[in-house]
Amino acid sequence: MALNIFNTLTRKKEEFKPINPKEVGMYTCGPTVYNYAHIGNWRAYVFADLLKRFLIYSGYTVQHVMNITDVEDKIIREVKAQNKSLKELTEFYTGEFFKGRDALNILPANIYTKATDYIDEMVKLIKKLEDAGYAYRTDDGSVYFNIHKDVDYGKLSHFKLSDLKENAEGRLKKDEYEKENAQDFALWKGLTEDDGEVFWETDLGKGRPGWHIECSAMSMKNLGESFDIHTGGVDNIFPHHENEIAQSECATGKSFVKYFMHNEHLLVNGIKMAKSAGNFYTLEDLIKKGVDPIAFRLWLYTSNYSTKTNFTIETVMGSQTALARLKESVIALGNDTGTVSTEYKARFMEYLDNNLDSPQALALVWELLKDNSIPNADKKATILDFDKVFGFDLDKTKEEGTIPEEIKQLAKERETSRQEKNWAKSDELRKKINSLGYEIKDTETGFKIQGYKKPSTYILC
Ligand code: AMP
Ligand code: ZN
Repeated sequence: MALNIFNTLTRKKEEFKPINPKEVGMYTCGPTVYNYAHIGNWRAYVFADLLKRFLIYSGYTVQHVMNITDVEDKIIREVKAQNKSLKELTEFYTGEFFKGRDALNILPANIYTKATDYIDEMVKLIKKLEDAGYAYRTDDGSVYFNIHKDVDYGKLSHFKLSDLKENAEGRLKKDEYEKENAQDFALWKGLTEDDGEVFWETDLGKGRPGWHIECSAMSMKNLGESFDIHTGGVDNIFPHHENEIAQSECATGKSFVKYFMHNEHLLVNGIKMAKSAGNFYTLEDLIKKGVDPIAFRLWLYTSNYSTKTNFTIETVMGSQTALARLKESVIALGNDTGTVSTEYKARFMEYLDNNLDSPQALALVWELLKDNSIPNADKKATILDFDKVFGFDLDKTKEEGTIPEEIKQLAKERETSRQEKNWAKSDELRKKINSLGYEIKDTETGFKIQGYKKPSTYILC
């Protein structure tokens, strides 16, 4: 079976056929770096990572680009509120984003693009749209996209402009709004007093880009004018992705993206998790409650990316237990790694080929563990093979026997400090053990040492 994915453009499950048969171009709308990402945001990035890992597993080479939105309305508001420079604020939260990415074992993108490094490309694109008659200037030095000039406007969100005629007159300088409020949107925002130091002096005058043009410029610069997959959360469908399509296709005359894929929302008590709603948790909040970020990753797989899912700490705790059981089972399978079961691999691929059916793929692991007809070494090989897609880092799960003496000694010292209730010392020793790539788990029967992956470094370009 070939990979079938739900394409928001057609509202259908379609067979995936990349433009270039072996290499996939993929763009993910990345974080707006004015605050910590919440775990709803992380659902979007884990979904993109699952998709990318499965494409690689299926034999494709993936060129993955993710943007870092480091200039936008909310950022400017925060720069003012915190009396910081744009660079200071955004670099801090970019660093925090990468820490979260590593804690969740998300594969780094091939390229991270900062919006502020692409102002020239954005200006060029806007001028092209102006020259072609799709954009117009206003007295305040802004440039707007005329949605009435684009016959295809609404094709992603599935509406006709004529149905929204009453609202579709006028202009919006805001970057976020509902589709009922579809109006001409800002490509370039002329300098206002509120922008403070955040502006660029360009051929378009003094000002800053609109949010939507940022992603069009960065994606096309790195993946070409037409590419395969664009991902984001469903709230990105309108206006962000609708506007990205409008700008890009009107500027190039070509089809922008073949497959748009959107993850559904993470909810809390039935309401979308959002910073503005104040109902959000960060990864740090989960860690403080004793949840391993990888257990959260496993929990995300228990529902399909395309369905809404309700967050509760109890269910995530259930996944924490499941992850511990899985790691213990892998250790119990022994040191030998045999051959991957073709039967189980075929089923694993069949599930994921079906629009990334992660709940079924996950259930298969438990079925395999219980299957007495498969030798332990083959079970281990098969699970480690599946883990290339799951990303639980199970191959880093080491038996105590393979743990260096130095680590064992430090762990013993820590246990002694704990018994003496010297919490400061035991904490210090735990940190030292962590810095050497190992972690201690306290269980009812004593402590356990496990190897874990050290955070990797990151590159911005
Ligand atoms: P933002 O930083 O607000 O641009 O959001 C980053 C990504 O998270 C985007 O792809 C959003 O669509 C996605 N997102 C935001 N809130 C949620 C949520 N509650 N559940 C799932 N994805 C979300
Ligand atoms: Zn974007």
